[in-house]
Amino acid sequence: MKNDPAAQDNAPTPDADSGKVAILRRPGHKLRANIPVVERASLPGSSASANENEQSGAGNTFVPNQFTGPSFRNKRERFRFDGHKMMYHLDRVMAWQKGERFAPVHIDMGLTKFCNTGCIYCYAVVQNMDRGTMIASDALLRYIEDCGKLGVRSIGFIGDGEPTLNPALYDAAVLAKRVGVDTSMATNGLLLDLDRAHDMLRDMSWIRFNLSAGTPEGFQRIHQSRKENLAVLKEKIRALVQIRKEYGYTCTLGLQMVLIPENFQEILPEAELGAELGVDYLVIKHCSDSEYGELGINYSHYAQAEVDLKQAESLATDDYVVQVKWNKINAAGETALYREGIRKYDICYGTPFLSQISGNGDVYPCGPFYGKKRFLMGNIHEQSYHDIVMGDRYWAVHADIRTSVDVHKDCAIGCRQDYLNQFLWDLSNPPEHINFI
Ligand code: SF4
Repeated sequence: MKNDPAAQDNAPTPDADSGKVAILRRPGHKLRANIPVVERASLPGSSASANENEQSGAGNTFVPNQFTGPSFRNKRERFRFDGHKMMYHLDRVMAWQKGERFAPVHIDMGLTKFCNTGCIYCYAVVQNMDRGTMIASDALLRYIEDCGKLGVRSIGFIGDGEPTLNPALYDAAVLAKRVGVDTSMATNGLLLDLDRAHDMLRDMSWIRFNLSAGTPEGFQRIHQSRKENLAVLKEKIRALVQIRKEYGYTCTLGLQMVLIPENFQEILPEAELGAELGVDYLVIKHCSDSEYGELGINYSHYAQAEVDLKQAESLATDDYVVQVKWNKINAAGETALYREGIRKYDICYGTPFLSQISGNGDVYPCGPFYGKKRFLMGNIHEQSYHDIVMGDRYWAVHADIRTSVDVHKDCAIGCRQDYLNQFLWDLSNPPEHINFI
């Protein structure tokens, strides 16, 4: 034992003041490190703790098995930005396993196909923006009613165009609340109608501001908007934070930064800005490139931002979450997914659970396929959403996705359904001996 450094490091430390443990005099055969073996039966709470074993004087500074309640609490995950929540919707998973027709749990939808800023990483540009095109108010409200009837659980007004350019946005959120569908929105915030602040804060679950800079110069460079507009946005966010506090609304307010090399120097200013504004979170995510790589993202560059990202996370407090989507940002530099497009599953199963609707009302299984007519399931101007979801065409397209899409080469990197697909792939491809959990 004297010559074994591992044995020296791990040996119970003699400590007369901090709880001695008894040592077995005849432990049996000799273990690899020759460290004294603790006599479990003599520990407090053991049925044999009053036995006569000699207290050896050997004591651990850390003594397990005291059963005095937790000495440590994991930090609660307030938001899940980097993963999925499918386990909370097992009824839909079971319907899927039985081959039934069912409504999506969640829908991401654009309300328009145009925007008032020009972010240099905008994915929608590769899908043909179309100035002036938006979903008509009557079609949108009818669709919301249908979502309530179908049992859609949430809708994110997150899509190709800026949602606040569609004046029906606010009425849609109010109606959705009434029919039992949660809503949220991702917006650049510049045109947010503060006269509808109470409707938004009362009836939406969360509002996320797409902001990828913390300085006026960065704002101009990244969003191709006037420098002064950063101040406009800050005022609107401050007003929402104030109204929410005053009226006790629970709508979560957050910032999302899309990380590209052009804004690495904006990471810390934005993290500080989020704290100053009083929002609930800042999430920093990688930039998803298109299947043709038109955004020119070199994922290995993300390593250069690591120090600033960690420093940004250190600004988090109990009231302000700062979270980097490390799963994807780290994977970006090193995995086959990002180098060669190879995913961890072979079939896309996620689209019936998470559907996407373009800002012109076209219903698609996924956003990256907007404009590919083969996968068009219908349009909410022409047909009721209920009939679309329960119709043959909708399910034929999902089947087409399963059978003809090669996720390793036909799909945009890190698409919205990626985490769902991993979960559903595991579920559909069990290993042997599943009862041995
Ligand atoms: S894996 Fe492909 S088909 Fe499936 S949602 Fe993603 S991009 Fe669309």
